[in-house]
Amino acid sequence: MTDIDKKDSATHRAATSPSSPPGWVITQALLTAKGSPCRSKRGVVIYDPVTDHALGSGYNGPPELFGCPGRDLCRGKCGKLSIHAEARALRAAAGGWPGAVELDLVHVELAPDGSVVACDGPSCWQCSREIVEARSISGVWLYQVATVGAAWHRYGAVEFHLATLKRLEIYDF
Ligand SMILES: [Zn+2]
Ligand SMILES: [Zn+2]
Repeated sequence: MTDIDKKDSATHRAATSPSSPPGWVITQALLTAKGSPCRSKRGVVIYDPVTDHALGSGYNGPPELFGCPGRDLCRGKCGKLSIHAEARALRAAAGGWPGAVELDLVHVELAPDGSVVACDGPSCWQCSREIVEARSISGVWLYQVATVGAAWHRYGAVEFHLATLKRLEIYDF
């Protein structure tokens, strides 16, 4: 892809505002989530929407040395015991984005039937602050409950952090 092609692609993206992440990114996020040992299986993929390349991915779960305490104990605890999928994906991608500051991040929860669980909105302040601090992430995709059914929603990184803090009633800037 030439620089002009990339520019065209970026212009095209801005003009069309996709209503969902690319299918291959969703598929990769769901496959990544399968690696989680926990009852709530999350997968994150960080990708460049212009070049259509993945830069890092991660799943949730306790540090490799520990493992999940099991289905019964996991509920309500693994969020605290675990490294979140975002943290692993950010670490995996850290060496791979020379100069790129227009990356998108997709978060999925894997449903038992293999599809994406619709969430209620941003819910993790530990991850939202890391995403905004990373500077290279410009958009965060969540599959959310909507007025009718569920839909993909893309937050700007700063917007995502603010929405998280507000929704959790931590702070309203
Ligand atoms: Zn667990
Ligand atoms: Zn998190």
